[in-house]
Amino acid sequence: MEPPTTLPEAWDEEADIVVVGFGAAGFAASVTEHELGADVLILEKAPEGKEGGNTRVAGQGYLNTSSEESAVAYLTALCGIYKVPEEMVRVWAHEMCLNNDWLRSLGADPQEHQHPPEGIEFPDLPGSDCVHKFHDGPTYGYSLTWKRFESLVKERPIRIAYETPGRSLIQNGATGEILGVRAERGGKVIAVKARKAVVLTCGGFENNQEMIRDYLPDLPYCYTSGSPYNEGDGVSMALAVGADLWHMNNFAGPTMAFKAAEIPTSFSMQAFHFSKEMAGGAIAVGPDAKRFTDEKYKNRHGKVLLHGTWKKMPTPCPMQMIFDDTHMTAGPLWDKAPKHGWTQLVEQYPWSDDNSAELEKGWIRKADTLEALAAIVNLDPQALVATVARWNEGCAAGNDPEHGRTRMLNPIENGPFYAIEMSPSMLNTQGGPRRNEKAQIVRPGGTPIPRLYSAGELGSIYSYLYQGTGNIGECLVFGRISARNAVAETPWA
Ligand SMILES: Cc1cc2nc3c(=O)[nH]c(=O)nc-3n(C[C@H](O)[C@H](O)[C@H](O)COP(=O)(O)OP(=O)(O)OC[C@H]3O[C@@H](n4cnc5c(N)ncnc54)[C@H](O)[C@@H]3O)c2cc1C
Repeated sequence: MEPPTTLPEAWDEEADIVVVGFGAAGFAASVTEHELGADVLILEKAPEGKEGGNTRVAGQGYLNTSSEESAVAYLTALCGIYKVPEEMVRVWAHEMCLNNDWLRSLGADPQEHQHPPEGIEFPDLPGSDCVHKFHDGPTYGYSLTWKRFESLVKERPIRIAYETPGRSLIQNGATGEILGVRAERGGKVIAVKARKAVVLTCGGFENNQEMIRDYLPDLPYCYTSGSPYNEGDGVSMALAVGADLWHMNNFAGPTMAFKAAEIPTSFSMQAFHFSKEMAGGAIAVGPDAKRFTDEKYKNRHGKVLLHGTWKKMPTPCPMQMIFDDTHMTAGPLWDKAPKHGWTQLVEQYPWSDDNSAELEKGWIRKADTLEALAAIVNLDPQALVATVARWNEGCAAGNDPEHGRTRMLNPIENGPFYAIEMSPSMLNTQGGPRRNEKAQIVRPGGTPIPRLYSAGELGSIYSYLYQGTGNIGECLVFGRISARNAVAETPWA
């Protein structure tokens, strides 16, 4: 691919505004741009039917805060010492109160989740009472909010170019202005002119293992249950034209999940979900064959309370889930309900009800004794036997002195015994090019790169703690803001 400042000899396509990526942020940006009179082209990497990114497979909730002042206080508290400029917090809080009004004005049907109090992720923080979580239509999950967003785009004359990933930005070398995008279509590079602006809405780097190693804290690898098409392309594109980065070390994770080589996205085990109960014993151990966490802790999008502060959950890789035959025969180890997650909704992997197909594939390892199982998965046999003995003693006493686990205190006692390798997993990354309150992507030092905007999880506002539904809520907020400012640009050609 040519450097950004090499101008194309001819343009293959053009629009007032080119939006790169069709998820919630691409929806909010493109619809707002169209409503303001712009001619819009969306470039989408995935084929038709697999667009929508993480938004398609999300829980489908989005935030609509009830009070601007409380929202300012809550976001400020969520950021903690990882402060975000005040004008960004203000604009987020102001617009986050308007999501439902805007969606209703388009004919959508916002409905508040009937959620228990834990819907507020950090109830003790100031302003947390502003949290109200919504979805579109009578129920949440099953891609339903996404389907509404998608139809709101498709009922307008907004062009969508599927299987056309943006690869690099085209930049005027003298002024720094962004003039368009080089994209790939059918194995060829095409040049797409953006007469007013380019808006990057192409998601995070949850499928780019090199960026994960470089930017996420203490992770040799990590897998997502979201879209496999989000490979950090927007980070590379923005860096190449001089963008600054922010929040690169923050992500909605980690949890523990199984990753099969032949499936791009991860499988979360029921045994390690805070709200699921299954018969039989199951624990997680690290390479030293010792437990390292309360496996059923209700973490806050990956953060756990350690010594009074919220930190990333420890993930000593490779980790193994160790369980007994009572658990193996209690039902499918993976929750395959098609409510959310790429593996369920798009891959639709048919996990067997008795786990036999996965045993057959070698995803689950089996041995008659714990010592033999340890040898198969490269753990010290005596150490594993001792760990299980300690766990079983705790179960008999009704507690977990090591990690304070209170759920599924079932002994691992009925052989044969099983192991399944766990990897760190996440929903999505939060980092990317730094944006300002006008949704402009900025250089180190804060000056905007002319005609370049972003929205969504690519460079999201979340710097530390995260309130569930805040990502899609933010897509709507900065999608609208980027659109208003992009449409206000004077065409360069
Ligand atoms: C399982 C799961 C559950 C979640 N639940 C919730 C929830 O209930 N509420 C909430 O707020 N958040 C939730 N999240 C997080 C949330 O889904 C995302 O942060 C949000 O949807 C991101 O929206 P986006 O538009 O920025 O990116 P995405 O929705 O990921 O869309 C990005 C789009 O860009 C495309 N793309 C990628 N690279 C390129 C390229 N080079 N050129 C062109 N197109 C490209 C992708 O194919 C994709 O279509 C969840 C995430 C997951 C994985």
